Amino acid sequence: MQTSLDTAIEYLKGIGPQRAEVLKKELQIYTCADLINFFPFRYEDRSKFYNISDLSEEMPYVQLKGKIIATQIVESKVKRFTAILKDDTGTVELVWFQGIKYIKSLLKQGNDYVVFGKPNRFKNKYSIPHPDIEPLIDFDSDNKQTLRGVYHSSEKLSAKGLNSKGIQKIIATVIDEALNGIEEYYDITFLANYNLPDIKQAYKNIHFPANEEWMRKAIYRLKFDELFFLQLQLLKYKIATTKKLKGILFEKIADNFNNFYNNYLPFELTNAQKKVLKEIRKDTSTGMHMNRLLQGDVGSGKTVVALLSMLMAIDNGYQACLMAPTEILAAQHYHTIKNLINDMPVNIRLLTGSTRQSERREIHYELQTGYLNIIIGTHALLEEDVKFCNLGIACIDEQHRFGVQQRAKLWKKNSPPPHILVMTATPIPRTLAMTFYGDLDLSVIDELPPGRKPIKTLHFFENSRARVLGFIKEQIKTGRQIYVVYPLIEESETLDLLALEQGYEALQRTFPLPDYAISIVHGKLNADAKEYEMQRFVKGETQIMVATTVIEVGVNVPNASVMIIENAERFGLSQLHQLRGRVGRGAEQSYCILMTGDKLSKDARLRINTLCKTNDGFEIAEVDLKLRGPGDLMGTQQSGMLDLKLADLSKDASLIALTRNAAADIINNDPDLILPQHQKIKIQLQKMIKNRPNLGRIS
Ligand code: ADP
Ligand code: MG
Repeated sequence: MQTSLDTAIEYLKGIGPQRAEVLKKELQIYTCADLINFFPFRYEDRSKFYNISDLSEEMPYVQLKGKIIATQIVESKVKRFTAILKDDTGTVELVWFQGIKYIKSLLKQGNDYVVFGKPNRFKNKYSIPHPDIEPLIDFDSDNKQTLRGVYHSSEKLSAKGLNSKGIQKIIATVIDEALNGIEEYYDITFLANYNLPDIKQAYKNIHFPANEEWMRKAIYRLKFDELFFLQLQLLKYKIATTKKLKGILFEKIADNFNNFYNNYLPFELTNAQKKVLKEIRKDTSTGMHMNRLLQGDVGSGKTVVALLSMLMAIDNGYQACLMAPTEILAAQHYHTIKNLINDMPVNIRLLTGSTRQSERREIHYELQTGYLNIIIGTHALLEEDVKFCNLGIACIDEQHRFGVQQRAKLWKKNSPPPHILVMTATPIPRTLAMTFYGDLDLSVIDELPPGRKPIKTLHFFENSRARVLGFIKEQIKTGRQIYVVYPLIEESETLDLLALEQGYEALQRTFPLPDYAISIVHGKLNADAKEYEMQRFVKGETQIMVATTVIEVGVNVPNASVMIIENAERFGLSQLHQLRGRVGRGAEQSYCILMTGDKLSKDARLRINTLCKTNDGFEIAEVDLKLRGPGDLMGTQQSGMLDLKLADLSKDASLIALTRNAAADIINNDPDLILPQHQKIKIQLQKMIKNRPNLGRIS
């Protein structure tokens, strides 16, 4: 039978029903196409042999050739199987803790073997745990190729002869016939422009690289394709939704906007704020539907941009909402905005989880009749019974706390859907944003309001606490206020709360009443108590605010000039940056003090040093991405949807940008891929979408 890409694996040469079963179960390989799309995860250079006497611990993987002179099963605490390999220069111990039966049956004392693994030193002797091993005769017969792909396998697969080498063997059997079914989908110019090898060569060389250069070329080509089709799909989706969706038209800029801008706006907008407002104005005045992500560092002034956008809606007879992730933040937005527009004829209310039932009913009523112009709240706004008369724009603060579904719920609050402005203070590296928010347009406020002094960030170990306390005292004397933040994570909640309590009490002793007062806020307090403590600090009645990360987002107290972060090594980088953003909001020099224990892991040290070195949120985001990977940044669920095989969103930034542009070049001229030269790409895209049904659900 002729092998094609669609051939089910049980019908491929050398596989059969039993092996097919494990391949399906363990690797989700169902067809020949799946098989040749199962790529090596690394390559081994099998051209070099080392002498046993030259082994050292610094060596990465090494290849040895020698005779097995002894084997033994050791029945101690951990059962293991050992074999001694000898060459002309010495001996080394090989050790297996798993698959003992299998390996024991494979090894014959007195025979020659090729061994590949990583040497470890143990009590002055070298040993190699779980090496790859094969009889020298086999090795010689198939050693035409020096770079060998290594495939992920499992115990179950190995038991059926499908270890890395076994997998490679079956791929070798089918690859040539399979490649007959693959046709190049890029034209010559495209291949030349992006310096890509032909697709068949790429597949051949990713499995069986002719040399190192070809290995790189092959990986590059297939990685390029992976990202290119992803971007193509995202852009197509974006164009389809913006074309399909008629947006609400904000025809005019009128009384409210102008009145506020001319009479109540307490400062001149920064150029960056003006630029973003223009972008929003452009979106909303052309009849298209706005779906925009506004990135701006903490303190860059996103709130007033949201307010001005909401006033645009009101001027055109529509309602507006602003949703925040916590009650504190929602309340803060409410107070800020209410103060700003106090004397204007705009009706505004706050709705959160702790809004009383009677008040809630009033709000529902006022929203439905259209009496309320602006509603500010938490996810309470998403509830079924919150209905609008005519919602024109929904602003969402701090996107990373809200899921995609929640955004969709807001969409449904009006038909046509309201314009969406998502604001985030966690800068996301642009390439990542392009991918995860592929359907959103991006705006960036890349400039802080004038007169801000950059925050000074300092790192102190526990033994400098007295100095830090002295510094707090000085700052309070000059009228400033201080935050002291403690980590609080679920796993160690009790201990964390205890540390917070103890810290609070220690501070009370150093800063006693009646000269000083201290607020305390954490998640265990009820909303009223939180609000009360917050307000005391906001009003300046307390000088110190001891808190957990509930204050992370948005809280704005310009007089607070010192942020002390306890156990800073336990916080993530972007979280530290967020916390730091709570200070530096007034005209005074502000400080962020990172307190840590003496022992810091390498990553923790990098986080602390990065924070001390820079205030640039995007730079910090890049480091964070490298440290944590995209999954942690975006939520594993979202990154899982992408399911990339070769590309790594945290490492392939420039390739993401390149493929984004390549895809845009095509989509901008030919959004439905109808031009003859794009037919093959279109077919390939459909294949990719079929194989990756999640793609459509991103963003
Ligand atoms: P964020 O982007 O973190 O949400 P905010 O909107 O809370 O920032 O703004 C931070 C502070 O900066 C607020 O006190 C706000 O009034 C002030 N602010 C915003 N824009 C300007 C500006 N153009 N000039 C001066 N101060 C500004
Ligand atoms: Mg904000």
